[in-house]
Amino acid sequence: MNKILFVFPNTANKPTITMAIPIFAGIAKNRGWQMYYFDTTYYEKRQDSIEDKEKTGGFLPVVEKQAKVRYSCEQLIFDLQNVINDIRPDVLCITAMSCDFEYLMTFLSKIQISKETLVAIGGVHSIFCPEEVINKGLFDLVCIGQGESVFEEILIKKENNEKLDNIEGTYYRDRQTEQIIKNKKKYLLSPDKLWRVDTDYSLYGDEYFIHPFDGKMVRMFWMEVSRGCPWSCEYCGNSALKQAYKGLGKYVCSRPLDSTFRNFKIAIEELKTDIFNFTSECFLAQPIKILKEFANRYAKEVRKPFLIQTRSETVTEERLEILKSFQAPFFQVGMGVESGSKRILNEICDRRADIDDIIRAYDLLNKYGIRSNAYFMVGLPTETREDIFSTVKLCRRINSHINSVSIFQPLPGAPLTNLCIEKGYITGKESLETFTSTSVLKMPQISSQEIGNLRKVFLLYAKLPEEYHKDIEKCEYDYENNRELFDKLIALRWQYDQKWKKEVIL
Ligand code: SF4
Repeated sequence: MNKILFVFPNTANKPTITMAIPIFAGIAKNRGWQMYYFDTTYYEKRQDSIEDKEKTGGFLPVVEKQAKVRYSCEQLIFDLQNVINDIRPDVLCITAMSCDFEYLMTFLSKIQISKETLVAIGGVHSIFCPEEVINKGLFDLVCIGQGESVFEEILIKKENNEKLDNIEGTYYRDRQTEQIIKNKKKYLLSPDKLWRVDTDYSLYGDEYFIHPFDGKMVRMFWMEVSRGCPWSCEYCGNSALKQAYKGLGKYVCSRPLDSTFRNFKIAIEELKTDIFNFTSECFLAQPIKILKEFANRYAKEVRKPFLIQTRSETVTEERLEILKSFQAPFFQVGMGVESGSKRILNEICDRRADIDDIIRAYDLLNKYGIRSNAYFMVGLPTETREDIFSTVKLCRRINSHINSVSIFQPLPGAPLTNLCIEKGYITGKESLETFTSTSVLKMPQISSQEIGNLRKVFLLYAKLPEEYHKDIEKCEYDYENNRELFDKLIALRWQYDQKWKKEVIL
């Protein structure tokens, strides 16, 4: 029997399921392959964004933590080597976003892999930077587009011992001659083909389905319901993907409802899911007809709490009524607000957003008593301290239940990354930081340090009354010597946020 080992260089310190591996596992299982899985969740790495957001008042800290064993990087190399030696996989399949790829590079070159094993990699970093990836000399095959469109072909060729150098949608590197073959890009699959095989979760232990939410651990499942977003904000990975897929077909699409609801059934019956997090960049941007059909089936077949992401323009009375007709015990609407500065939003980010409309959308959610989530960003190119304080002001005004504050990171392939290079803020070769650590941009009007400090205290400025601003400033300018004060202010932040206390905790 053929064997495949899936490897995920998880940069988060909590069990995480990538979208790709369950899809590929479904395909491999149908073809009778024996499957194995290895990820880096429990190995030493830097603090991740979720932990940081708990410490800085974004998410309510979870008391009942999952076991977090940390093994060293040396142990990771030792363990992965042993797994590969024991299994001797025919295919070693890696999926990685840009930050995962940097982490992967810290250990993969130290692993010995037999030439019988095909080492294949996919994921957004391979789509945006295929040359960089293939030139590392560590991979036989790099998937330069949708993995779903090439994965089965790779398995079939491997099963039949056929040549793998001519698969459209991949780059191939011959290990002996070091010759690189760049095959052309492949057309995007239509939704019925993209989701034709049911996802398979048999590789994951129970801990992968339990996640922090409202200060508790709950059984949460990320359900992909659509792909792509009709907007093209300059900092977003969605815009970069649309650019990469230009001329190859339709990228923005809804998942066929039969496929979605078959998977809801599996998630409820087999994985005991309590809350669904819909993976969809802009759920309410889907046509009303699809939303109504979705609501109809959800009310009959699912009726579980759910979380969505959308844009303010799509938050209308009509669409909120549809969401209510899902008949879930509760639901949450999240929106990217990003900045309170019109200049940053529209001239720099090309977000085409209207701040009054953002306020309108949150007011409407508040009027209906619907849970809301707001995403903010600091450290955007050309942003000043005053711009950041206009974002703080907007955060205070919209009064969302949950707030997430991140630092802008120039993602490979995103149009705004080019502006950062043009302005000399980055060279384009920097390692990405986490979304909560620091800014990699070197800008004249504000330092990386100031951006990092402001992110830390952002929600204190936004959520606490002005009488605390002197204390918050102390923490902003000298966090290390004011840690105790900072923790006290964070505790106060939760006490002052009565909205959270009354409406949010499950
Ligand atoms: S609306 Fe959101 S998902 Fe769509 S392009 Fe803008 S940031 Fe990306």
